[in-house]
Amino acid sequence: MGVFDYNRRSTLTVNVGNVPMGSEWPVRIQSMTNTMTDDVERSAEQCLRIVEAGGEIVRLTAQGVRQAEAIGMIRNSLRAQGCDVPLVADIHFNPRAAFAAAALTDKVRINPGNFVDPARTFQHLEYTDEEYQAELDKIRETLLPFIALCREHGTAVRLGVNHGSLSDRIMSRYGNTPSGMVESVMEFLRVFVAERFYDIVISMKASNVVVMVEAVRRLVKAMDAEDMHFPLHLGVTEAGFGEDGRIKSAVGIGTLMSEGLGDTIRVSLSEDPEKEIPVARKLVDYIASRAGHAAIEGDYCPGYDPVSPPKRATRLVGEARTPLVVASCDRDLITGALRPDFFAEDLLDLAEPVLVITPDNANIPGSLLQQLHQLEAQGNDCPVVARVKYDDSDLEWLQVKAGADLGPVVMSGLVDGIWIDAPECESQDDVMRIAFGILQAARLRMSKTEFISCPSCGRTLFDLQTTVKRVQAATAHLTHLKIGVMGCIVNGPGEMADADYGYVGAGRGRISRYKNKECVGKDIPEGEAIDHLVALIKQHGDWTDPA
Ligand code: SF4
Repeated sequence: MGVFDYNRRSTLTVNVGNVPMGSEWPVRIQSMTNTMTDDVERSAEQCLRIVEAGGEIVRLTAQGVRQAEAIGMIRNSLRAQGCDVPLVADIHFNPRAAFAAAALTDKVRINPGNFVDPARTFQHLEYTDEEYQAELDKIRETLLPFIALCREHGTAVRLGVNHGSLSDRIMSRYGNTPSGMVESVMEFLRVFVAERFYDIVISMKASNVVVMVEAVRRLVKAMDAEDMHFPLHLGVTEAGFGEDGRIKSAVGIGTLMSEGLGDTIRVSLSEDPEKEIPVARKLVDYIASRAGHAAIEGDYCPGYDPVSPPKRATRLVGEARTPLVVASCDRDLITGALRPDFFAEDLLDLAEPVLVITPDNANIPGSLLQQLHQLEAQGNDCPVVARVKYDDSDLEWLQVKAGADLGPVVMSGLVDGIWIDAPECESQDDVMRIAFGILQAARLRMSKTEFISCPSCGRTLFDLQTTVKRVQAATAHLTHLKIGVMGCIVNGPGEMADADYGYVGAGRGRISRYKNKECVGKDIPEGEAIDHLVALIKQHGDWTDPA
């Protein structure tokens, strides 16, 4: 198989309850409840809705032993109703909850950033080699009884690293980087492997798609170097909602799946969890449809690093000096701020030649990338635009297909523009928004406010969906900002990682506001919180009045 061919990475099989996972099996689709886990009845009902939508695995948060035990009750309730979906306990900061869940659930997710280590201080701490080793010894000491319990009960484990919730120890040596995420999980993996426990699935998530993609690519390289072949769980965390959430997920997850990575996926949306399933299904089915495509001959151009490719195109068109968007549509239909840089016919009028490449294989990104690498190797110095045509009229399909096809292409750093040709779409504005959304997801061109909102879970302290919409209504014109809306203070501040401002649940009816990672207002009554957020943005000179 050539480097541009679609071919699943070979992995071990891990059984999660009755669902086998790994390269021998279809990519599994999962979601997470957002009910209070100790509300057994409502949680079981939501699990059933996720399963009815097509979810194959359901995760629930377990803040403590009580919630871990509730998952056991939810499992009994589901089994009594004839539903045998595997249940996963999601653990942060509380090994005792993980021990309880190991006996009562099908898989336990632990976060290497906080399983043993306390909450991050966000201060730069120095560790001597002895202090660093002492922490590793403590991790091993805590993991050994956990591994024994999982082995005894046939329970699988997910090691789930999140950008922004790395331990102070990892931060001291690697920073909040993809390399830090990789080392965070490798420290744990080495303990599991030494104990010959292999029922492990790994995730590396970030709300920043570029960071997430690079972290997973680096992880695979690190595991290969140590002869480890564990399945991967893919997801873009805090992806948001609606079109942006779908495009971000399609770009991040789709880019990695195009490289044959990923054995289970979760599309995290700030919506009802069952809404995530059809999006994930589309993504999985679309990528799987590439299997058996005609071989694509070719290699990467000299000097190209697939693990950490250049972050942006180097050969640019026009004044904007950012990747451009082309529309092949009636210009009378285009209105608003998201105008394309060029219409198809305008390309012909340019003084300098622009190359337009189109796929000639069922593996669309593979075909486009092969052409880009070939052009690069031949020393091409003309701008290149990748054009893909879709016959879909359904917008969700277009978001998923275009995100998954063009995500890997724009993230290669070798293309200067994208051209989505979607003649069946009713509104060309929709097509334009999707194209700009893809560039924004890849952090190549920011054209709107970036909302980093968590999907909510049993820790959420307010109605997240309504709140996200209210924050969006107040700040959507601030196109230069990234704004986090997070359900809880336990994980929220870390996981909104690179947000400029944050709105974080601090207690029932109480909000904290953040400037970057610093809390600058605690216990604000929920009813006043958006005004306080706006005031904070004004105070830092980042506010402009809506046009
Ligand atoms: S940030 Fe959101 S999804 Fe993450 S643990 Fe808190 S409430 Fe749950």
